[in-house]
This record gives sequence, structure tokens and C-alpha cells, in this order.
Amino acid sequence: MIALLNSHTIRNKFLLILMLIAILSASVTAGVLIYFESIDAEKYQQDKLVLMSSIISPSLTAAIAFNDIETINELIVPTVKSDGVFATFVYNNNDVLITKVYQDNLAGNQLKEEDKVETPLIISGENQGKLVFYADRTVIDNKMSFYKKLVAQLLIGTLFISLILSIILSRLITGPLSQLIRIAKTINKNNDYSIRAPYHSEDEVGDLTRCFNSMLDTVENRENVLESTVIDRTQALEEANKQLHHQAFEDPLSGLPNRRSFYALLNDVVNKKKEFCLLFIDLDGFKEINDSLGHDYGDILLQQVSKRIVSCVRTDDFVARLGGDEFTVILNGLTNEEKIGQIINQMLSSLESVFHIKSEKVFTSASVGVTLFPRDGSNVDTLIKNADQAMYESKRKGKNRSHYFNEEMSRQLLNKQEKITDLHNALKNEEFIIYYQPIVNLQTNEVDKAEALVRWQHPTKGLILPDDFLKTIEEESLMDELGYWVANQVLSDRLKWHQHSPRNIEISINISPSQFKSKDSLLLQWLSDFDKVSLPQNAIAFEITEHSLVHDHFKVRELLNDIRGKGIDIAIDDFGVGYSSLSYLQQLNLDILKIDHSFIDKLSNDKSSYGLCKGIVTIAKELNLLIVAEGVETRTQHKLITELGCHYGQGYLYGKPMPSEVFTHQYINQHLTD
Ligand code: C2E
Ligand code: CA
Ligand code: CA
Repeated sequence: MIALLNSHTIRNKFLLILMLIAILSASVTAGVLIYFESIDAEKYQQDKLVLMSSIISPSLTAAIAFNDIETINELIVPTVKSDGVFATFVYNNNDVLITKVYQDNLAGNQLKEEDKVETPLIISGENQGKLVFYADRTVIDNKMSFYKKLVAQLLIGTLFISLILSIILSRLITGPLSQLIRIAKTINKNNDYSIRAPYHSEDEVGDLTRCFNSMLDTVENRENVLESTVIDRTQALEEANKQLHHQAFEDPLSGLPNRRSFYALLNDVVNKKKEFCLLFIDLDGFKEINDSLGHDYGDILLQQVSKRIVSCVRTDDFVARLGGDEFTVILNGLTNEEKIGQIINQMLSSLESVFHIKSEKVFTSASVGVTLFPRDGSNVDTLIKNADQAMYESKRKGKNRSHYFNEEMSRQLLNKQEKITDLHNALKNEEFIIYYQPIVNLQTNEVDKAEALVRWQHPTKGLILPDDFLKTIEEESLMDELGYWVANQVLSDRLKWHQHSPRNIEISINISPSQFKSKDSLLLQWLSDFDKVSLPQNAIAFEITEHSLVHDHFKVRELLNDIRGKGIDIAIDDFGVGYSSLSYLQQLNLDILKIDHSFIDKLSNDKSSYGLCKGIVTIAKELNLLIVAEGVETRTQHKLITELGCHYGQGYLYGKPMPSEVFTHQYINQHLTD
């Protein structure tokens, strides 16, 4: 019962209340019924005993008067034979018991004072005694127990009927409500807002159903709007995602997979451990095309090159553009050199043929590096490095060709890496030294100039010449640092000499084009340090090559003027090789021109060299430049350059480059003692 009361469903509570009402009303009705029935039974018993006593009392009174015991007994025996009397006692007027009769099966304790009914026996106003009946209540009790059973059955029946009725009632009232709840739960669970509750009746529940359904209409509409918005947004997101993916993995210019995509795929094929061939392709002379025709032509060329490369490989091969004019190809499952050769040859000849860009005919070619997996490298990094090496080998061998990676290249690469590490250490440990080579005044035979030339005192390999390490220094972007060290060293030597000797000797420092490249160059730092020292004019000269001037790095011309303003001479080095544009000589404020030793070399037996030198000397004089002839090794060469009118000579004939101490001893201290 308590469980029903605590139940969470209205239906159960409703059922319980209905049943309680039914039981209560049935119980009250049954109680009233039993009460009146018991009163009725008692009265009937009473009336019956009164009637019996009134029938027998006249005869009984007479019999007592005559003390006729036999008649008395005859009269009272029938009383105990009928229902309703346990025993009958007759007393005389002195309350002395005359006689008594019992029911046969009477037990002593059944005679109770409250069941006693007394009738006085009177004749002609004179009391003769009394008749006493002990009423038998079994009849009443039987009747009452019959009624109790009846009432109990009635109660059970009522309970049953009330149960059925309450179920029917609750079905009628709470049924639709429960259905609404079930539907709400289903909607909630499945998020299906198209479900509607069935409409049953025009009552409050019907109203509730109607409201519920109209609420669902609103929710469904909103849901639909929301859903379509979500679909739109999702589509937009997917689209953006796709574009991002394209941007991340596709080269926008060529439409080919980009570097990232290439690395991902290469990783993939390496992990699968299936053999393949990796090609590195680099266009020959692309930079020149770009510089001369412009970037828009360059871009179109790259697009056409991409198409040609793709057309030369098989459909399941992979072509990517790494950037610039670099492409890679993965030839899946192919390590047969003959077949690879066919593909590469087709590619090379395809790229060799003319490209029509706008109205121009453009020619290019490609250098290809070839590596095989797993033969030439078992991991991505090694493969790429080796393919790149092989491609550089093709370039070195004359371009427009392919080259397979081999162990010799690997060894060279290793050496180079070792050299790079050594060079970094050399800068840290100050393993460089300066040699000075005297430059002789051809008129006075005096050494009043010298060139500072760097050397590398390697801890194990001995003295190394600049041609063996300057290229790597440049490639590793260490030139600015090394140049700064050289210039500082020269400045310190030059200051030392200045303190010892009043003689002015001009020391020239070679400046690499890369030292002009940036505004943060250490060269500029050195120049401002130079301002703080006091040296005579023309104590220092800078030797620059034409390369410094071709690419107008960081306003070289203005910088050169500033440098000259500080009393530093500018010499144009290696004149005659390279661009040899005479217009530079006119445009720039230079002081010295150094004729490259390749001309001096051939001076004695090559007429055209002689003629060229003569021309250079004439122009240089015209421009008021001092002329230094480099690489003078013989007396003949000395004679010829003097005849030509060169002002200075530099070469083994006069003196090889020498350590600072030797130079100091021979040309500075010597001079002091002269
Ligand atoms: P360079 O500026 O043309 O220097 C002259 C080179 O010719 C020096 O080579 C020198 O030893 C060599 N030489 C001098 N006289 C003769 C001769 O009679 N016969 C022959 N065959 N050679 C002669 P070195 O010292 O090996 O320097 C090579 C190049 O390295 C230099 O050529 C210069 O371009 C560069 N270099 C040297 N030191 C430096 C430096 O401190 N900074 C920069 N940026 N470059 C430097
Ligand atoms: Ca030089
Ligand atoms: Ca030179």
C-alpha cells in the first residue's frame, strides 16, 4: 500500500485512492447492516420467549398452585426442545426451585445471567412463583456469523469490482496521459520530432494533446531550420577543409602535389618496403629565363614543364613540385635501369624541345639525379640527400643529363660535411691566419702595397689554401664572419706596423660580394670600428670583384663611395674575367685595377692577351686608375707589364704570400733599418 502511495505514477495513486474509497464505503455499509441485524435477532428471540411464557404461564401457575410437578415438567419440557432456550427453571413464590429442564447437550458455563428471561407466575393477583428461561444465543450467533460471511464476501466482491472500475477509470483518465509521456520519451530518445500524439477526446486531456502536438510542430519547424543551417554550415566547413587540404598539399602554380605531399608519400612508400626509383629534377638556366623574361614567363614555363614531366611517367607514378624549378618523381616498383633510362631520356628530350610562352620561344633542359630504394638509402632523408647529390653531379657534368647516385658521391658528401663541421670549429677556435703578399711599385721597385690572403691552419691537415675552403664558407653563409675576422686581423697588424714605422704601406683586403648583402653585415661594423682608429690615408684598400657590382646588393655604389670617403682605396680585382663591363669602370669611383693573372700568364706568347692588356691599361689610365698586374712569375712578364705601363706588379717573382711575422721582418722592420 505504502509502495503504491510512493509510486511515481499517477495511475497507481489513482487506483489506490479509488480502492480505498470503495473499501471504506463497503465497510461502513456492512457494519451498519450487521449492527441492525444483531438488534433484530435479539428482539426476535425476546419476543419468542415472551410468547412462549405467555402461552404456558396460566397452566404452569395452576400446576404450581396444586404442586403438580408432573404437569409442570410436561409443560416446560417442550420449551427446551424448541430453538432458542437452553434451560427452563420454575420457582415457587418463595424462590425455591421446583423443577428445571435442560437441553441434552448443555454445558454448565453456557448459562449466563445476561441471557436470563424471568416471567412472574400470578393467579388472581397472587404471586405463585416465577418461570425462568435461559436463552440460547446460538441462533443469534449463527445468524450473525452468516451475516459476517455475507459481508466478507460482499467486501471482497466490492474490492474486486472497485479494482476493475478503477482500472477502467484510470485507463480513461490517465491512459492518454501515459501515452503522452511515452510519446514524449520516444521523441526525446530518437530526436524524432515528426511523431504526434493521437487525439482521443474533447476533454482536458484532449486539450493537452492538442497543445503537446502544436508544441511539437514548433519544435519540428525549428529543428528543420536548424538542420538545414547545420547542413549548410557543414558543407561550407567541408569545402573550406578541402581547400585547406589543397593548399596544404598542392602546389598552386602547377597543380602538382607539393613538398609536404611528396614527403608524406615518400614516407609511405619507404615504410611499405617495396622497391622504387626516386628522381630529382632541376631545370637548367631557369633563373636566367626568370630574370630576363620576367616571373610571369617563368611561371608559365614551370606549368608547361610540369605537364611534360607528367606526360613522360606512368599513371601510377608520382610527380611533385618541391618549389622553384625543382621537381621529384617516384617511379613506383621500378628499379630496372634500362626502363628508368627510357623514362628519363623521354623526359630530357621532351624538356629540351621548345616551349612557346606568349609569343616567345623558350628553351631549357633539366638535370636529373637518380636514386633507387632500398639500394641507395633505406630512409627518406638519405634518399633525398642522395638524389640531390646525384642531381648536382648531373649539373657538374654539364647539365641536360641524368646521373645515378654512387658511393663516391656519398664519400664526397661525407667529406664535405666533415669540412663544414671543421670550418665552424675553425672560426670558433681561430684557426685562420693571414699571409701577406708584397705588391711592388714598378717605378721605384719599392714594396708599398701588399695583399692580405687568408689561410686555414688545420689542426691535422696542415695549411689549407682559400680555394679549398672559401666556396664552402660561402655556402654555409660564414663569409661575413670570416671576412670580419680577416679585416680585424689586418687592421690590428696595420696599426702595429704604423706604430713602428712612419712608412705608409697599403694593405688590401679581399671583400666577398656576400659581405655587401645585408644591412647588418659585420663589414659595416668593421667600418665604424675603423673610424675610431687613426691611420694615414691609403693604409687600407678593399679588393672587390665585378660580382659585387653586378647584383646591386644593398646599394653597393653608395657604400663604396662612403668607404672611399674614409680613406680606403677600392680595387677592382681579377679584372678581365667575368663580365668585364667597362661601364662599371666609368660609373664607379675606383682607385685600383688589378689585371687578372690569366692575362699576365699568356702575355709573352699570346698576342691577343698582350693587346687586351694594352687596351685595359689605356682605359685604366684614362680613368686615373692605378694598375696592378697579378701573377707575375717571370722577368719577361715583369718587363712586359712595365713596358705596358702597369704601375704595380704582384707575383711569385717579387714574393710569395708569407706569414705576418715574415712580412713584418722583411718589409717593415727591414725598412726601419734601411
Ligand atoms: P686573388 O684575390 O686573386 O689573390 C691572388 C691569388 O693569386 C692568391 O691565391 C695568391 O697566392 C695567388 N698568386 C699570387 N702571385 C701568384 C703568382 O705569381 N702565380 C700564381 N699562380 N698565383 C699567384 P690564394 O692566396 O690561394 O687566394 C686565392 C683567392 O682566394 C684569392 O684570389 C681571393 O679571391 C681569395 N681570397 C684569399 N683571401 C681572401 C680573403 O681574406 N677574403 C676573401 N673574400 N677572399 C680571399
Ligand atoms: Ca685579390
Ligand atoms: Ca686577383
